[in-house]
Amino acid sequence: MKKAYKIAVVNGDGVGAEIVPAGVSVLDAVAEKYGFQLDKEAFPFGAGYYKENGKFMSDDALETLKGFDAIFFGAVGLPEIDDTLPARDYTFRVRTSFQQYINYRPVKLFPGVDSPLRYKTQEDIDFVVIRENNEGEFVQSGKILHADKPAGLAVDTSIFTRFGIERVAHYSFKLARKRNRKVTNVTKSNTLISSLAYWDQVIAEVAEEYPDVEYSKMYIDNASASFVLRPEIFDVILTTNLFGDILSDLGGAIMGSLGLGGSGNINPEKEFPSMFEPIHGSAPDIAGQNSANPIGQIWSAAIMLEHLGETEAAQDIMDGIEHTTAQGNLTKDLGGTATTVEVADSVVEFIRAAKMATV
Ligand code: ATP
Repeated sequence: MKKAYKIAVVNGDGVGAEIVPAGVSVLDAVAEKYGFQLDKEAFPFGAGYYKENGKFMSDDALETLKGFDAIFFGAVGLPEIDDTLPARDYTFRVRTSFQQYINYRPVKLFPGVDSPLRYKTQEDIDFVVIRENNEGEFVQSGKILHADKPAGLAVDTSIFTRFGIERVAHYSFKLARKRNRKVTNVTKSNTLISSLAYWDQVIAEVAEEYPDVEYSKMYIDNASASFVLRPEIFDVILTTNLFGDILSDLGGAIMGSLGLGGSGNINPEKEFPSMFEPIHGSAPDIAGQNSANPIGQIWSAAIMLEHLGETEAAQDIMDGIEHTTAQGNLTKDLGGTATTVEVADSVVEFIRAAKMATV
């Protein structure tokens, strides 16, 4: 019998309605080729849903989504909706409720794409940002008091636990073993002398269990400059929720466009569904024009299949992306003229025509 996976599809807002179907067309092509089944169900959650219902998700959403193997997600947010809500009421809720404590964000230069670092090669730009995704600076535990008074004050608390640090550290070192055996902890413990000093201490303890992996520590300011000046030094970057959020956008920029970056919010134990989404937001400025770059979404589809164990199909998608960019089949953000649909179709055509990928 065919293997079947239950996939919840959440387009979200803005370009989500264009890039998610583009990603689904690629998923369907590999499913057909590799003989597995994707039972998809669409959910209308997001800022558009909020406008009609006063909430980003239905009340039973988390309970329903729990029954799926994975969530294939675009982006949430609309310009007319308070921009603190999409993260709080959708993204962070899903990430924390489903213990998606790994945010896996690869950075890679594709052939045919002019990176702003154009003298770097494909070998130089190929690393993964592992962002701690459930705690740290984004726990949203804070308060604003007496906002309009002279005594006004605001506080946000970062929370780091041994449990939370250890699990993301173990994931990163194990990942490094499958790559180039190098982990860089991006931190700022010289100024955040409690929370990040503890972060460093626990990671250093975990590092001792992986003597075959080279471990080093780098401050976020130096790491930002190094992304631009010497990206070749990185393999697996292990960092906090806030730093990972910023660094992975910078990673998108050095690839050539934010539209290229894919990601996974991963619960490695598979106790809950993981969620796969491009690194960018809903890009309302270009929504509805069939011009958004679908590669970040398509790459997210590959990361999803890898997580589900469909490694060959995932590799086929990556080969399809590389073939497409190498042919100069690029959307406007990369200086090309191809539409969203044309880029996705080109990946699908490659998958249909190419031999089965072997990994
Ligand atoms: P968020 O905070 O939700 O991540 P954001 O405010 O950072 O969102 P984005 O929606 O990511 O903003 O858009 C930032 C810029 O990148 C916009 O100019 C947008 O058009 C561009 N962009 C984002 N995604 C794509 C894409 N898939 N293709 C082309 N351009 C994109």
